[in-house]
Amino acid sequence: PARPLFGSQLPAGLRTISNIVAVSSCKGGVGKSTVAVNLAYTLAGMGARVGIFDADVYGPSLPTMVSPENRLLEMNPEKRTIIPTQYMGVKLVSFGFAGQGRAIMRGPMVSGVIDQLLTTTEWGELDYLVIDMPPGTGDIQLTLCQVVPLTAAVIVTTPQKLAFIDVAKGVRMFSKLKVPCVAVVENMCHFDADGKRYYPFGRGSGSQVVQEFGIPNLFELPIRPTLSVSGDSGVPEVVADPQGEVAGTFQDLGVCV
Ligand code: ADP
Repeated sequence: PARPLFGSQLPAGLRTISNIVAVSSCKGGVGKSTVAVNLAYTLAGMGARVGIFDADVYGPSLPTMVSPENRLLEMNPEKRTIIPTQYMGVKLVSFGFAGQGRAIMRGPMVSGVIDQLLTTTEWGELDYLVIDMPPGTGDIQLTLCQVVPLTAAVIVTTPQKLAFIDVAKGVRMFSKLKVPCVAVVENMCHFDADGKRYYPFGRGSGSQVVQEFGIPNLFELPIRPTLSVSGDSGVPEVVADPQGEVAGTFQDLGVCV
């Protein structure tokens, strides 16, 4: 098992943050990072002071999804702290900005890296820290949730039936830890073509989750080429198209967290 993060004390760097929101998924590739980044920029657009912590050490996507001028984290040598990089006023920390390649690490090492990045960062006063969680519900996720005082969790999934089973695992993990799961985001729900709406992965598992677990909000995001293009271009969709349908969905999600 992974060693406990930060012993038992809340790190000083996290005490100046009002809300810590985990964006979680039980599988990779369902759009968790896309949701985390767009949620963070939506909150920033509403006037909040926001940071994003990319805890996905194995596959950090933050460096692809946002394009800060300074792509390396700076160290304060005296205080031995990490200074986040920034893009459009949002503070960013990711292993991908640490100047190393993709990680080949065992669990305890990963915990160590997460621990160091999260706790020695000078976040300053933040209204929201959005944590892009590593996918799954293993030791690392569990420890992270136990130690970081999360105020809310958002679960991202795709509409397949199989995904429902995974989502249930995630919901159970958060409910055991008494972290309120405020919303499920069903991503890649549908696309429109030739004036018709198509549901390539079927329908209904999102509403099943909401009903079964009493989660108060369900949001649907369409499959949209612009979401993937903006993800790769370094400018989040909600920044590129602030009046669009996707931005509207994220504003509703922003109100929930
Ligand atoms: P995860 O964090 O769950 O691994 P990502 O957010 O990195 O997933 O998304 C995986 C890929 O799918 C990315 O290339 C992203 O741009 C793309 N993507 C995510 N959601 C959508 C969507 N609704 N429509 C189109 N592309 C999407």
